[in-house]
Amino acid sequence: MSDWDALNEFLRTDPRDIGCDLALDALPAYSEMAAAGENPDELFPGLAAHLKSCPACSRDHEALVRAIRQFGGDELR
Ligand SMILES: [Zn+2]
Repeated sequence: MSDWDALNEFLRTDPRDIGCDLALDALPAYSEMAAAGENPDELFPGLAAHLKSCPACSRDHEALVRAIRQFGGDELR
């Protein structure tokens, strides 16, 4: 991927993207569904769009899924 492609990718923000603040609110429920093998993208399309464009929240999501799989969701509530 050229630098120009990377820039284009960065600038093409999905209009459904809900932003970091709302994403963090919905992330536990979203991650719990993902950890359970369900598809949370239909329930949280704005969050799914955000995770595609935000590496920070995407990392948080992956860490949450790992934690839920390892310890179960109860400890996080
Ligand atoms: Zn974010």
